[in-house]
Amino acid sequence: MDCRGEKKLFVAGTWNFPQTRLHSTPAQQRPPTGISMLKHLTSKIKSTGPISVAEYMREVLTNPVLGYYVHNDMLGAEGDFITSPEISQIFGELLGIWCVSEWMAAGKPKNLQVVELGPGRGSLASDILRVFSQLSSVLAGSSVTVHLVEVSPRLSEVQAQTLTGDQHQTAGTENEPVYRRGTTSTGLPVFWYRGLEDVPKGFSLFLAHEFFDALPIHKFQRTEQGWREIMVDIDPQVDEKLRFVLAPTPTLASSTLLQVDEQRAHVEVCPEAGVLIQRLTDRIARDGGASLIADYGHDGTKTDTFRGFRGHNLHEVLAAPGTADLTADVDFGYLRRIAGEQVASFGPVTQQQFLKNMGIDVRLQVLLRNCADAPTREQLLRGYDVVMNPEKMGERFKFFALVPHSRLAVPSQGTIAKKKGPAPPPVAGFSQLAL
Ligand code: SAH
Repeated sequence: MDCRGEKKLFVAGTWNFPQTRLHSTPAQQRPPTGISMLKHLTSKIKSTGPISVAEYMREVLTNPVLGYYVHNDMLGAEGDFITSPEISQIFGELLGIWCVSEWMAAGKPKNLQVVELGPGRGSLASDILRVFSQLSSVLAGSSVTVHLVEVSPRLSEVQAQTLTGDQHQTAGTENEPVYRRGTTSTGLPVFWYRGLEDVPKGFSLFLAHEFFDALPIHKFQRTEQGWREIMVDIDPQVDEKLRFVLAPTPTLASSTLLQVDEQRAHVEVCPEAGVLIQRLTDRIARDGGASLIADYGHDGTKTDTFRGFRGHNLHEVLAAPGTADLTADVDFGYLRRIAGEQVASFGPVTQQQFLKNMGIDVRLQVLLRNCADAPTREQLLRGYDVVMNPEKMGERFKFFALVPHSRLAVPSQGTIAKKKGPAPPPVAGFSQLAL
């Protein structure tokens, strides 16, 4: 059973967020039937032949005119799926603590860039920044900036509203790397970009929650003739219907993306995730910082995980393209392989383990102690259960981190005695938080 499907159990109840959140749920802006995206895809296939699953996913999700992410606000009770930061404020708060702890472990650099990939409705960033403002004495003297990588103009508006209220404006031309900028209520600058390559260099903490699962995957099937790529074609029997077919001969992707010793009969590979990990790795190794990636996924063991979600229910992936979310489990084994030796990698560990190590139980008790309002207490307890329960999101969701090797090195004290200094604190979440 899929975690997103499961979330529908949860949304059946009433939604009362603690007042620390600023939420509005704008009406959905779906294209009425998805016909336009289907027409776009069928004419593409008619002119160039079957397309890869990766091209299908990319077009459906991020086509600049018709893409699902481009014009939808799909998150929340009235959308297609709901995520941990939307379910529990504690989730984002603990990630805020994680950021502060990594920043301290790096020697409190003056400039701190918090970079989020795919920020959705901006709830995670908002909860992180609330922690930053509560810990302002710890962060005093540092200069914090917020950088959001978001492909969706629609969602960037929602994020701007969540994080800056009316304090934001868009760029003059389409060619500027920063397409929106604003200022939070505590005076922190926020910038929006279309891609990671546009984010300025410098010490950065990169966060990606339920982002990698939205990146396009190629799908491959082992056959008696060797590996073949699964493609998307028009069904010759039914007009305007799509179907999967096997490429008759090897494609560039099937010749280059598979491991020689691959044991599975069906494999999904996300080269875009590989490119991003390479970029993150280069930046962390050069400028310092860390990456924290949280998503549902596996360690190179699963096979067919490509799914669609619409209205919190599973949706056939080739039906009514553009009207439903498409997603595939993240292969953390692949991410770790791409990161290689240039940085140190941690995890994947389960969400339950990570949040426990971050002190979720203590945080929950503090919030409950300070809250007399029964519906809010109920909401806090229910949110805790959904994000922690192994039957819900506690086990399927995993955390994975990249840090520079220098972050883990024991400094030597004094040049003559060559005495070892104190060991650096462990990376929080993967060990117990030690602030
Ligand atoms: N992190 C949020 C939202 C997850 S949904 C949360 O957990 O609630 C995925 C997010 O990634 C959306 O904001 C979507 O618009 C964005 N996104 C998807 N593909 C993208 C791409 N290729 N580049 C940038 N953003 C992308």
